[in-house]
Amino acid sequence: MINIGILDKQAVTSFVFYPQVGKYVVYTESGKLLDIDNTEIIEISYRNQKVFLKTLDKDYGHFNKIRIIGVSHQNAFKLKTNKPVGKIIQYEDNLFIKAHPFHGYLQLINNINIDNYVAGVVEAEVGKSPPEEYFKLQAIICRTYALKNINKHQTEGFSLCDKVHCQAYHGKPKSEQIKQSALLTSNTVIVDSDINLITATFYSNCGGQSANSEEVWHQELYYLRSVKDSFCLSENNAVWQKKIAKNEWANYLITNGYSKEILKDSCDYEYFQIGRERFFEKQNVQIPFVKVRTDWKLKSAQFDVKTEGNFVVLQGKGFGHGVGLCQEGAMRMAKMGYTYAEILHFYYEDVHMVDLESLDFFKAEF
Ligand SMILES: [Zn+2]
Ligand SMILES: [Zn+2]
Repeated sequence: MINIGILDKQAVTSFVFYPQVGKYVVYTESGKLLDIDNTEIIEISYRNQKVFLKTLDKDYGHFNKIRIIGVSHQNAFKLKTNKPVGKIIQYEDNLFIKAHPFHGYLQLINNINIDNYVAGVVEAEVGKSPPEEYFKLQAIICRTYALKNINKHQTEGFSLCDKVHCQAYHGKPKSEQIKQSALLTSNTVIVDSDINLITATFYSNCGGQSANSEEVWHQELYYLRSVKDSFCLSENNAVWQKKIAKNEWANYLITNGYSKEILKDSCDYEYFQIGRERFFEKQNVQIPFVKVRTDWKLKSAQFDVKTEGNFVVLQGKGFGHGVGLCQEGAMRMAKMGYTYAEILHFYYEDVHMVDLESLDFFKAEF
């Protein structure tokens, strides 16, 4: 089981909960309060640092914390926020509620089986259309990420949040295939040569060549090496374009150390990046491509510069930071019949897939 902080950004002060699959029991700090099934609805709201609970016909008063625990073989519930008004979201397993320790709203934690959580993340992160082999790979990556970052929100009382800060998670997945992929790969994680969980990074499209980890972040990781990738070249995010007024672009370069003298003719603006270069470089002035990407909110750090009248046109390749697994390339490989293990080893160098339960054994052997 894993604790996921949900809907924190919405600052929920009131919501209704109703069981969808299985029976639930509501517990408070003083023990069991009531049983509920899918014919019932409970409303939970925040008031004066306390959590109030009522059903359609009874007011149960206020508590410090409430835990709604599924007691059937499978459990799922629906949640609809009233304040602020939100749409119905389905979640699996359990829900913990307390008054937020710092802010005037409810803190909601979805206490969930890790495979159920992983399936939810896979659907939120990649959608429902890729082939099954890809879902399995993504499930292993999301599980590895979750376990490696299990203490990310420890001070707030849960493990991971439901936003991209950790991994996007919007509750129960709709795709049965995704659920199956998470179950079929249950317990499988990726480790490095020291049997540590890897930093399993991914992004949309590498544009033909992925990046070394130290080119984007400071840390050099042996398994996050640049690879040439032809699988993603015809996919949706393989290329992009951005048009910028020439004087705006010139000002930007000058602010970053270029002298006016080297920007006289149109051809002074042109730039061809060969492979993945680290610096946008002319006449000894270097601007890291990753900085240019952030400053201009570009889809990637790989682009050429051409001119068109009073504009420069950035012609880019790929989408995302480029370190680790290229999702569109990996999806193409899966469609072509590569197994998830083959795809994994193509993007992450010298890593191993192991069963979680054998991790402690390996560690002891070392
Ligand atoms: Zn987070
Ligand atoms: Zn790629």
